[in-house]
Order: sequence, then structure tokens, then C-alpha cells
Amino acid sequence: VKGKAKRAGKQARPVNGVAVLGAGIMGGGIAYQSARKGVPAVMKDIAQPALELGLNEASKLLAKQVERGRMKPAQMAGVLNNIVPSLDYSAIKHADVVVEAVVENPKVKGIVLAEAEEILRDDAVLTSNTSTISINALAKNLKRPENFCGMHFFNPVHRMPLVEIIRGEHSSEETVSTVVAYAAKMGKTPIVVNDCPGFFVNRVLFPYFFGFNLLLRDGADFQQVDKVMSKQFGWPMGPAYLLDVVGIDTAHHAVAVMAEGFPTRMSKSFRDAVDIMFEAERFGQKNGKGFYQYA
Ligand code: NAD
Repeated sequence: VKGKAKRAGKQARPVNGVAVLGAGIMGGGIAYQSARKGVPAVMKDIAQPALELGLNEASKLLAKQVERGRMKPAQMAGVLNNIVPSLDYSAIKHADVVVEAVVENPKVKGIVLAEAEEILRDDAVLTSNTSTISINALAKNLKRPENFCGMHFFNPVHRMPLVEIIRGEHSSEETVSTVVAYAAKMGKTPIVVNDCPGFFVNRVLFPYFFGFNLLLRDGADFQQVDKVMSKQFGWPMGPAYLLDVVGIDTAHHAVAVMAEGFPTRMSKSFRDAVDIMFEAERFGQKNGKGFYQYA
């Protein structure tokens, strides 16, 4: 992948400043990682508390780096200065790359992407961090689909090495190369994949969640499943805890997209635990209650 990133770099446009749309779990993490690696990031949201939460998370992560002796306090201030919160679109107009990371809803994403495109330079690259929604479908909202592709990070952004770069049917080589080079600059391992619902990773991960929900329907206890999959099977965490980390609302939207994309393989005929928790607004760690209760 490093070799590929280098080769791709030949056609890549320089990335000196970026913008992230949505300052939630992912947007906040992407802005932090970008700024940490020297690429200033505007962080745009529609809600002031979301911006504050994003900045607080970044501060906490940086404070840990200082505590561990990996960063000087002055550097910490420099990185924080490179995350520019904004409620206003005009702040993104000089961005070389934009990563859209708003809610996993095709309509909302379509509107946000089109609004961003209006503000950006003609040669700016627009990307979506969608987990599951087809990049070709999202591109239909745009006037310059050649400047658009998927840039799918994983949670938590600062720890997960992989970034899927999704090539849409209209994405230009230059667009894909620019995003590959930017991901490498962020210290990530980019892989370029073709477009389809769920791309690569979520085509593997969602059948796992699906199997987990079937187990629950058949009477399994989620804590026991988590214990077996983590402590005994050896994965970092079990499926219930992972769903709480991802966000039950995000997972709920994503399951619907996967079911629509793969009706014979991913459709379910029952109301599962994710549906029930979504309806009860138990969104996982982000609002303190999901499968587990968080203080
Ligand atoms: P989140 O709910 O934590 O954050 C979404 C943010 O978008 C909120 O702060 C909200 O205020 C903001 N927002 C909503 N509408 C907006 C608009 N019109 N303009 C600007 N901001 C707006 O969600 P998240 O978990 O960060 O997920 C964001 C995206 O990243 C989704 O597409 C999701 O599928 C994807 N993703 C999530 C994960 C994960 O584990 N949570 C992993 C990979 C990708």
C-alpha cells in the first residue's frame, strides 16, 4: 500500500488544509488526526455543542500525548490551533479536501455535499466518510462528480490504521490519488476499493452484527456473547460493546442501507435489538446508554 500511495502521489494535488463536515465521533476524530499530522482542519457542524465536544475530545487526546511525553505542551497548543470550529460554511472555502461526516442518511448527506460543493474551489476534492451508502448514488447530487470519492475512516480514528478510499464511477485518478496521499500523510494505511453498499470492511462486519442479532433473537444474553468473543475468543471487544462504540443510531441507519443494497443476504424479517434500542433512543456511548450504561 505504501508503494501504491507513492505511485499515486505523482498525480496527487497538494493538501495543505482540509475541512470536516460534522463534528461527531468521526468528524471530531478526523479533524484531530489531520491537525496532529500537520494538516489544519476546519470542523463544521450545525450545532455548537457538537463543536465543543469535538474540541474537548481533541484536547483530551492531546493531553494524553503530553502526559506520556510524546508531545510538548507548546505543540499541543499548536495542534489545537489547527482545528478551527465553525458553524458557517464560508470557513471551508479554501479547503483542498473536504471529508463529509454527518449522519448516515442519504438525503442529509446529499444536501450537505451539494451545499459544500457550491462553496469550494473547482479543483477541491470532496469525500464522504459514509459507512455504507453507495458513492455513485451520493455523486448524483454533485455537479463535479469527478472530484468526489469515498474516504472511510474507522473508529476511533486516531487508533485505527485503515482508511478505505472508494472509487466511484466518475471519480478521477487525480481525486483518488489526492485522497490516498492525504490518508498516508495522516499516518493511515489507505486501500482503494470499488463502490458497493458497505464497501469492503462493512460487508464483512455487518453479517457479523446480523449473526449477533439472530443469536439475541434466539435467546442469547448479550453480555455473555461479548465475554466469549472478547475474553475467550480474543477479539478486542464483543459485538454489543462494538455497537455501543459505533453508535446505535449510526448502525441502525447503516443496516437499512445494507438491507436495501443486498436484499437477499442482508434483509431481516424481525425487529432486532438495534431497532428496539434505536426507538428507545439508546444510542450507545454517545448518549451514555446503549447495550451498556455509561456514567
Ligand atoms: P455522530 O452522530 O457522532 O455525528 C454526526 C454529526 O453530524 C453531529 O455532530 C451532527 O450535529 C452533525 N450534523 C448533522 N447534520 C449536519 C449538517 N447538515 N451539517 C453539518 N453537520 C451536521 O455520527 P458519527 O458516528 O460521527 O458518523 C458520521 C458518519 O461517519 C456517518 O456517515 C457514519 O456512517 C460514518 N462512520 C461512523 C463510524 C462509527 O463508528 N461511528 C465509523 C465509520 C464511519
